[in-house]
Amino acid sequence: MGAIPAGTQPSVPRPPGPGMPVLREAIVAHQQRFYGLAYDPATEVLVTAGATEALAGALLGLLDTGDEVVLFEPMYDSYQACIALAGAVARPVTLRPPHYDFDPDELRAAIGPKTKLLLVNTPHNPTGKVLGRADLQVIADIAIERDLIVITDEVYEHLTFDDIEHIPMATLAGMRDRVLSISSGGKTFNTTGWKVGWMCGPAPLVAAARTVKQFLTFVSSGPFQPAIAVGLGLPDHYYDNLRHDLQAKRDRLLPGLHAAGFEVFPTQSTYFVTVDIRPLRPDGDGMAFCRELPHRCGVVAIPNEVFYVNKHEGRHLVRFAFCKRLEVLDQAVARMG
Ligand code: PMP
Repeated sequence: MGAIPAGTQPSVPRPPGPGMPVLREAIVAHQQRFYGLAYDPATEVLVTAGATEALAGALLGLLDTGDEVVLFEPMYDSYQACIALAGAVARPVTLRPPHYDFDPDELRAAIGPKTKLLLVNTPHNPTGKVLGRADLQVIADIAIERDLIVITDEVYEHLTFDDIEHIPMATLAGMRDRVLSISSGGKTFNTTGWKVGWMCGPAPLVAAARTVKQFLTFVSSGPFQPAIAVGLGLPDHYYDNLRHDLQAKRDRLLPGLHAAGFEVFPTQSTYFVTVDIRPLRPDGDGMAFCRELPHRCGVVAIPNEVFYVNKHEGRHLVRFAFCKRLEVLDQAVARMG
């Protein structure tokens, strides 16, 4: 590499702590365009190092030692870790296949005097479930009745199939000012390594997370922030193609998994599909199955028990990802066959 001549080192400005204005404006425009939600880019938006840091900042900023968080399991694995880092306690309500519906009474029963917030992920990793309006309304009614904050993880907001609509919790009546909506450019633009995420919500909730973010990364991903701003403004056909391409991949992998002998559960969104391995492995040991699979046929899957507090609930379940080229999916299915 040639030396950079003296006096010509580029000066690269650091983004401001809350994120570059161009990106905060683009996030606000995106929320307005897709959901009719209005936010103030100065006080109600925070750019983070991926949704991962948004979740960490929000949970560490809003929870005190001993507080409780009610959430559904299976769940994205960072939730449990961040709740533990905050000294708080996760109170999971279990969703079960094939439809992963929740029982409103079970949800109500999980809420106690120490419950500070609800954490809701829709579209949902690992199940691919998208919460419909009726389910969201049940959660919203409980949040209002019990005066709870709701953190929503919406990173798969644009990856829904079969014309199913993603409905942000913040759009429900009375909810905008108690919801912190978290998303990311990672899934929408296939830029997971860029680590550009964000949150939108009422100023006091965003300020709590911003105070923590200051001591996590302060700022990150400067060069990528304007690029994600451009992405958020892309025309509708970008977003339509994204979901149609991924839907085609889902529709390629699922019949193959079925033909290989798994019980395959429906998935309406995300990159993921869950299967029950027991037709192929009656002992239902998903962890052992996933450890062996790469050696047996060069395919990798994730044991769903890592997404549960109550590990036994997910022991026999395994998650495959279909965000791969069609040839790769075909090859995986052929090898598993
Ligand atoms: N939430 C969920 C549900 C996820 O699946 C992921 C990524 N796997 C994240 C958050 C983290 O997103 P990011 O890459 O933007 O940190």
